[in-house]
Amino acid sequence: TTILGLESSCDDTAAAIVRRAADGTGAIVSNIVLRQDDLHASFGGIVPEIAARAHAEKIDLAVEAALERAGLGLRDCDAIAVTAGPGLIGGVLAGVMCAKGLSAAAGLPLIGVNHLAGHALTPRLTDGLAFPYLMLLVSGGHCQFLRVEAADRFVRLGGTIDDAPGEAFDKVARLLALPQPGGPSVEAEAAAGTETIRLPRPLLDRPGCDMSFSGLKTAVLRARDAAVATHGGLPRGVRRDLCASFQAAVRDVLTEKSRRALALSGDVTAFAVAGGVAANGTLRAALEAVAKEAGCPFVAPPPDLCTDNAAMIAWAGAERLAAGQVDDLTLAARPRWPLDAGAMPMLGSGK
Ligand code: ATP
Ligand code: FE
Repeated sequence: TTILGLESSCDDTAAAIVRRAADGTGAIVSNIVLRQDDLHASFGGIVPEIAARAHAEKIDLAVEAALERAGLGLRDCDAIAVTAGPGLIGGVLAGVMCAKGLSAAAGLPLIGVNHLAGHALTPRLTDGLAFPYLMLLVSGGHCQFLRVEAADRFVRLGGTIDDAPGEAFDKVARLLALPQPGGPSVEAEAAAGTETIRLPRPLLDRPGCDMSFSGLKTAVLRARDAAVATHGGLPRGVRRDLCASFQAAVRDVLTEKSRRALALSGDVTAFAVAGGVAANGTLRAALEAVAKEAGCPFVAPPPDLCTDNAAMIAWAGAERLAAGQVDDLTLAARPRWPLDAGAMPMLGSGK
């Protein structure tokens, strides 16, 4: 089957074509991401209204480019998959409306996809991972350990009780006057720094695999202010050391909690990571070492499939289609949509 996927839940407008063979293997035929970084740069963060308008303007272009790159017409596709949440509602709506229009025009099935399921199922597209596997989903808005048992069955083992690491990377970048998105800029600065500034390792003293990252960001703020007071400004070297020390603290929390999650997860085929923060080279290497230590295979999709993209949405749609799950034109956009909605009915808990 050939699936067209659309993604517009945050600040990237994306469309992709993915094929799923009868044996369950996947292949990316085309993968277009139109970024909005420039539009939001002067605001120091994503402005939802600007993002929504840009998605509405660009989503058709992304679809055309994805089809053209694949050398296909809309009618060569078997279904249209679209992110139906969670995310910024204006952007999600722009994608859902576009997908409904295409579905109605070409008479193709419409499949609503949970953005987080897209991230969490990516290792099946890239590496053909079999269920069940342990997933650390670590992104701009989420951080959780999931036992992925089926394309629609995710058991949450623990996660952040406050900020997501990606959010912390972005806030730290803002505190240090580095460009957004913060992850790549902090990682680049950290590469030139040393882990010499003492920062906390929140919740390591507590059992289980829940995490906390908001205190870390506050500790970076204090360390920055102390450096500014001492030096009358933030020296380049201190900024680099702050980035290295912050990244090291995130690494230490994620690795220790991953050890515990691996112990809790029971029999799994692999330890996989996904989500934007999983694009970070230092974190990937550290998490790979944890898996090795536990004698468990490690899987991390290529960085451009960790950050937001539509190939993961097309793939998750292909998995739903294979299971006979399709939606219709009543498909709704959901700003909040926890992956384990069944198991954890408390909306708003455990980002
Ligand atoms: P969610 O998937 O939770 O809804 P999102 O879609 O906004 O959130 P992603 O695109 O999956 O998030 O990830 C974006 C986040 O990943 C940003 O916070 C960004 O700073 C972070 N990120 C990207 N690259 C890196 C990196 N190299 N190191 C650390 N963080 C990174
Ligand atoms: Fe995402």
